[in-house]
Amino acid sequence: MSIRKYITIYLIFLILAISFIMSLFVNVLADRVIHYDIQGTLVREMMKNNKNIQFVDGKFQPNESFEYEDDGKYFQVLSENGKLLLGENPDGVEVPEIVENQRLSIWTYEGKEYYIIERVNRKLTKETGYIIYNRCIVGKKNIDSKYQFIKIIAYSTIPVFLLFVLCAGLMMSKKISEPLIQMSKTAETIGKDGELSKRMEYDGKITELAILSDTNNHMLERVENMFETQKRFSSDVAHELRTPIAVLLAQCEYAKEYSGTKEEFDESIDVIYRQAQKTNEIVTQLLNLNRLERGAIVLDLEEVSLDEIICSICDDVEIKEKENVKFQLTLPGIRANLDVGLMFILLQNLIQNAVKYSTKPAVVEITTGREKESVFVKIKDYGCGIKEEEQKKIFTPFYRADKSRNSEGFGLGLSLAHRIAQMHGGRIDVESVWGEGSTFTVVLPKR
Ligand code: ADP
Repeated sequence: MSIRKYITIYLIFLILAISFIMSLFVNVLADRVIHYDIQGTLVREMMKNNKNIQFVDGKFQPNESFEYEDDGKYFQVLSENGKLLLGENPDGVEVPEIVENQRLSIWTYEGKEYYIIERVNRKLTKETGYIIYNRCIVGKKNIDSKYQFIKIIAYSTIPVFLLFVLCAGLMMSKKISEPLIQMSKTAETIGKDGELSKRMEYDGKITELAILSDTNNHMLERVENMFETQKRFSSDVAHELRTPIAVLLAQCEYAKEYSGTKEEFDESIDVIYRQAQKTNEIVTQLLNLNRLERGAIVLDLEEVSLDEIICSICDDVEIKEKENVKFQLTLPGIRANLDVGLMFILLQNLIQNAVKYSTKPAVVEITTGREKESVFVKIKDYGCGIKEEEQKKIFTPFYRADKSRNSEGFGLGLSLAHRIAQMHGGRIDVESVWGEGSTFTVVLPKR
């Protein structure tokens, strides 16, 4: 069921219930208000008329302003026992004795109803020495008809009010449902046409809808980025593998067709071996990265000496690079819970990069240390450095800051290192000044 239909049905039921309650309320309230208003009016008019009666020489003497009847209202003066002293009854009506009731009462005579109100006349009671009453009688129908208008107004406000509520409800439901319909249409277009660059639009005032639209847009942005990364990754893999495979094929053909002597044949085999090794390296790194991304590698944590791992890597590099590298190590004996194999890959990549991107002989400073909840390894070099705008991109697979640089590598080492640090619950920070050098800091939780 659509939101609009749901709200409309809900509102109709709500309105029916409210109309029932309001009718009851108006009925009771209007009758009460009318009743008290009639009572007030009659008492006021009766008291006003009373001023026109004097008690002179033992007689009640009304002056010319005294009204016996005014617009169907009959004004009377009565003795304590109900004897009519002044005034008259409406035609042929036999009125009751004094009711001594402060409230408006209804008297029925021959099927016709009358309002009666009485009050003790204090002035005349004082002057005569015995209790004198004032009374006003009026035909109920006669006076009620004047109040009918108020009732009609009161009743007619109910449908107007309810119509207003219904319109407001429908408008609200439109305001909520329209952006939702719009959002689902956008989602449908994205699903059908694969237009991942499309975004949901909402500029209304409903916070929940704004949050929904923002969340969806963030999700779309992530999906789009992932999709782009995936596309770029596939094309990068193809690109990186094409060169060594092309060299392999060319060398095989050359060896088959043209290598006349054993030396020429051996030379071709050497080239083939080197290219096969390069291809193997790319494939191994890609496989490792893929396994890490898929979560196929489970951490095998054990308490080990970080410093020992670093020393072992530095020894290997020194053997390979000989005089071309000078390590300055500050290793105070830090131990942590790590996966040795993965940590070896991480640190090896960072240390090899520090050497690779420095002019020879490379000076690399490595420091380990402890902070509150973590341990860190700082690898500082005085090499070429990384431009600020490139510092964020270097962790993306196949990204190489300076493509023209003639160094070995495929741009996968830092992606691997970054993923390994993440798996350990840590991170890698980079500080670098273009042309002056870089510092990579691995921060890992102590556990
Ligand atoms: P590779 O070294 O194989 O190119 P990496 O993923 O290890 O790939 O590094 C990505 C890029 O980051 C490198 O191509 C290089 O441009 C840059 N980089 C990494 N480490 C350093 C460093 N210590 N000094 C300068 N540039 C670096």
